[in-house]
Amino acid sequence: MTKPPFMVFTDLDGTLLDHESYSYAAALPALAQLRARNVPVVLASSKTGPEIHALREELRLSASPAIVENGAGLLLPREAPPGQGEAYQRLRAALDLLDPDLRRCFRGFGDIGPEGVVEDAGLSYEKARMACQRAWSEPGLWEGDADQKRAFLAALADHGITARRGGRYLTLSFGGTKADRMDEAAALFGHPPRIALGDAPNDREMLEHADIGVIIANPHGAPLPELRGERDGAILRSQKSGPAGWNEMMLKLTSRLS
Ligand SMILES: [Mg+2]
Repeated sequence: MTKPPFMVFTDLDGTLLDHESYSYAAALPALAQLRARNVPVVLASSKTGPEIHALREELRLSASPAIVENGAGLLLPREAPPGQGEAYQRLRAALDLLDPDLRRCFRGFGDIGPEGVVEDAGLSYEKARMACQRAWSEPGLWEGDADQKRAFLAALADHGITARRGGRYLTLSFGGTKADRMDEAAALFGHPPRIALGDAPNDREMLEHADIGVIIANPHGAPLPELRGERDGAILRSQKSGPAGWNEMMLKLTSRLS
C-alpha cells in the first residue's frame, strides 16, 4: 500500500454530522476529494461498532478503520462489527462480583437493555438495540453517593477497569482513549501526518494529539476554550458550523497538503 499524504480523524455529532439533522451532505465535496487522494478518514465517536459500521458503509469509508465506544475499541478496515465482545463480557462479569449494595448503584446498558435505553435516551428501538451491542465498554447511570462511588471505582480498578464521565453516563472500560486509538490507526498506514476535527471539549485530546487540529464551530454547544496550539497555527477554527465547516476546512487543507 502506498502511504497516503495524510489521514483524517473526525468526530461525528456537531462535526461531520449536522447538530440537528445529522446530515453530512455539506461535507460531500471534501469527502470526494479525500477519496480521490486515497486519504483514510477515520470516524471517531462514542457509538458502537454496529452504529459506526452502518455510517462507514454509507460514506464509502470502509477502507478506513473507525474508533468506536469513545476510544475503547478500534474497528479495522472492512471488519464487520463484533457482537458482544469478550472484553465486554469480562466487564459485565466484574460488575457481578461487586458487593450487591455497590452493584445496585450502577445501571448499565446491559442491565436496562434496549427498552431501558429507549426510555432513558429517547432513541428509536433500532438505535437503542445497536447502542447495546457493545464490545469494549459499558455506559450506565450512577445512582449512588460519593462514598459508594469511591468504593465502586476502587473495586473495579482491581480488575483493571477505569471509568469516565461523558454526558449523563459513567462509562466503564479497560482503558484506551481516542488519542491511543489514533496511534494504532495511523500505524496501519505508515504514520502519515494527521488532521483531527471536533467540536466539543471531549474532542480536545484528539485535536491536541494530531499534527493539525480543526475546531468546528458549534453555536449550539459550549465553546472550546482556546487550546494550546492555536497560537502557533497547529489548531485552526472553522467559520461555518458542522459539515459545512468540515467541508470548508478540509478543502483548504487538502489543497495545502497535496
Ligand atoms: Mg461532537
